[in-house]
Amino acid sequence: MNAGISLPNNDFDAVMLSAQEHQHVDRLTVATIIPDEASYDRFLKTSSQDLLEHATQYVIHRLKETKRWDNTVAYEKLALRLGYELTERFIDYARTKLPMRPVLLLDSFIAQSFSQLDLISPDWPTLSTPLGQYLDALISRAVVSRDGLVTLFWHLYSMTPSHVMKVLAIPEDQQARIFKNYARWRKGGWQQTMIVGGLSEQVLLELEKDVDQDWRTVNNTVCHILDRIQPYYRKSEPSHYLCRDKEAWLDLYANNYDQEYRLWHLAMCQGCFKSLCESQMNGLADELQPLTHFQVRPYGNHVSIDGKHKRSQNFVLDLVK
Ligand SMILES: [Zn+2]
Repeated sequence: MNAGISLPNNDFDAVMLSAQEHQHVDRLTVATIIPDEASYDRFLKTSSQDLLEHATQYVIHRLKETKRWDNTVAYEKLALRLGYELTERFIDYARTKLPMRPVLLLDSFIAQSFSQLDLISPDWPTLSTPLGQYLDALISRAVVSRDGLVTLFWHLYSMTPSHVMKVLAIPEDQQARIFKNYARWRKGGWQQTMIVGGLSEQVLLELEKDVDQDWRTVNNTVCHILDRIQPYYRKSEPSHYLCRDKEAWLDLYANNYDQEYRLWHLAMCQGCFKSLCESQMNGLADELQPLTHFQVRPYGNHVSIDGKHKRSQNFVLDLVK
């Protein structure tokens, strides 16, 4: 059972209940001991946030210790994401280790996870480059915005709305939504994402220049960065992590289930996307090369964050085709 992490909220009743329970449960310290299941359940109700904070601080500590820390927002966000992910997994794991001392067990769980999963890779500094920063902004947005998620297919694979409908096998009565996702993204979502991600028009122009001069190298770098960072941006429900083999993908489409998973997983997992295209399903392979083809601007081009680029008239026609 995943007890989940209860983060602070504005629910007055929940806050009051939490405060009352705090009176009966110690704050998280090295000395805290959880003897049995009932105590563990009480502990989770009041101390999930403490666990998350401790995990994040310990992740930062490990990154600094291994000289892979950089004092940038990208690294802070990375530490928070890793802390969240590890705490979620720890909550299930710790239940199987009762009685236990949560602080010590959490530290050893994180240390173990780092070495097993190679979470700390020397490639992380790529997040400090403009391209890494761009991808971080894009994918962080996709985690919270459907427009951002759907249009990842454009930015990563140069897929038009029609391609997306085909790849996801969107039923006819829902296809207008994909057009809307693309239109809203171009109208404001992308610009907002760039601004939040700290990307200036100048940086975007330079990225475009890199693509023009050597698109192969840029695409290879995009693949390389994505391979490393994708697991940390995926939706937190474990059911969205699972990769499937070709047969499982074909079954999913043939019997038309897991539409949500389809969108999430294919946008975020290059391996499964390639395998699906290679399966020749829906004639995808004839039409699409499952290759990364990075796009800086939203579909339709001529959109900037400083309003200086004029919008293409043809673009609107493209969308209503
Ligand atoms: Zn996959």
